[in-house]
Amino acid sequence: MQHPRALLASIFGFGAFRPGQEEIVDAVLAGRDTLAIMPTGGGKSLCFQLPALCRGGVTVVISPLIALMRDQVRSLREAGVEAGALTSGNTDEETAEVFRALDEGRLKLLYMAPERLASAATTALLRRIGTSLIAVDEAHCVSQWGHDFRPDYLRIGELKRALDVPLAAFTATADAETRAEIVNRLFGGVEPATFLRGFDRPNIHLAFAVKNSPRRQILDFAGTRRGQSGIVYCATRSRTEVLSQALREAGHSACHYHGGMEADERRSVEVRFQQEDGLIVCATIAFGMGIDKPDIRWVAHSDLSKSIEAYYQEIGRAGRDGAPAETLTLYGPDDIRLRRSQIDEGIAPPERKQADHARLNALLGLAEATGCRRQVLLGYFDETAEPCGNCDLCDRPAQLFDATDAVRKALSAVLRTGEWFGAGHLIDILTGNPTPKVQEKGHDQLPTFGVGRDLTKTGWGAVFRQMMGRDLLRPDPDRFGALRMTDAARPILRGEMGITLRSDTIQADSSRPAVKA
Ligand code: ADP
Ligand code: ZN
Repeated sequence: MQHPRALLASIFGFGAFRPGQEEIVDAVLAGRDTLAIMPTGGGKSLCFQLPALCRGGVTVVISPLIALMRDQVRSLREAGVEAGALTSGNTDEETAEVFRALDEGRLKLLYMAPERLASAATTALLRRIGTSLIAVDEAHCVSQWGHDFRPDYLRIGELKRALDVPLAAFTATADAETRAEIVNRLFGGVEPATFLRGFDRPNIHLAFAVKNSPRRQILDFAGTRRGQSGIVYCATRSRTEVLSQALREAGHSACHYHGGMEADERRSVEVRFQQEDGLIVCATIAFGMGIDKPDIRWVAHSDLSKSIEAYYQEIGRAGRDGAPAETLTLYGPDDIRLRRSQIDEGIAPPERKQADHARLNALLGLAEATGCRRQVLLGYFDETAEPCGNCDLCDRPAQLFDATDAVRKALSAVLRTGEWFGAGHLIDILTGNPTPKVQEKGHDQLPTFGVGRDLTKTGWGAVFRQMMGRDLLRPDPDRFGALRMTDAARPILRGEMGITLRSDTIQADSSRPAVKA
């Protein structure tokens, strides 16, 4: 057996392992079942490629990403490694060459699309060629609740049992639930050696901003980064088109990308992005898995992601080369409402919806963080960290104010109106604005009417946003999105707990001070 460290330099040209890689390589080499959770760009391919070269037999790599498989095969070949792929993208000649190499016992790595597993002949083939290890990339595709679900991934567990070989699974999705699903479905419920490491991407600057004029905010952000490759993630297809148009008008090289485009159109954007310098792609989340461009300098979100995992995976596409990269995430009450309703209106069972709300809460907690964002982010992945010095809140600490009184007033307005109204109407009541609707409902007669004149309308907007961000208030889909109080708010209402909110985001979009000293 060749020594992995020697191959690291001679084949891959790396001087050292990255954090986490060596332990994973050791476990895989030792023939253990392994589950490695690594952030995108963390260097997971090395963790199965290196053992594949050291071990006897063929390592079968299952991946849903044809382009990525082809890239990996190409670079392995350039490094003198016998690797091949069996995918729908192959020419007959390529396929024939793969089989020839297999027959001659030359091939070390065989990449395969999951669709192949549906054929009974595949198991026989893999047995015949002396498969000694199965590596599964993007292992979260086995989770039927994720948006990347691949039914054929469900066959992998069976294949492992049939061949009786170790399996190494890799994913960037870290939450406990997905992990449990992977263990059940790929490893038959037997806990593999699990590695969850190296989640920090210290070169990525983290920043969030309250969304007030998204187009302007994205243009400003891109404007200071002219000539750099970047991605703008949008929640809707139409927004990708509108924003890329606006960026082009501002003199950037930009295009859009979403699932509604023809496959060849999408492919041509992917190729352009890979090859051109300084292209901006405005995209839905359809753009991403499989994008392997090391020098993406920034990722902006014009809309909030659906969970903290999704957010981290999306921004993790920036700065894979280790050089500084910037991010900006815009968010506002509409994002919270959109993401909550997507969960509520989905087809998942209730426990699942609850878990999805919790993942969204974790992201909102990050958006409304009052201290170092990286600490909050890594804390979610069970890692502890010092204040990072590379996030907007380390750059400029948040200004806080004791919001206990304001939050109690808001909760009282919510309860006294029967939890049937949205923020706009509640703010009219609090600020004593006798709109026709307020008068018609008799809400100008409530004791809460006008008790919040110490804050501006914008100020109250920010208080409500932060309350939604802390999950003290939740829009109810059965009440047209009316805000209802959650259990988390009860201790504050009862006076058992105080609450601190940010005052700088209150003032951010207001011309006069929103909070009186
Ligand atoms: P992912 O975890 O997203 O699959 P990759 O395996 O594609 O990430 O690796 C991301 C980048 O990191 C690649 O460009 C790869 O060459 C580089 N890389 C991986 N391991 C090392 C290492 N030990 N030293 C330096 N660069 C590395
Ligand atoms: Zn920080």
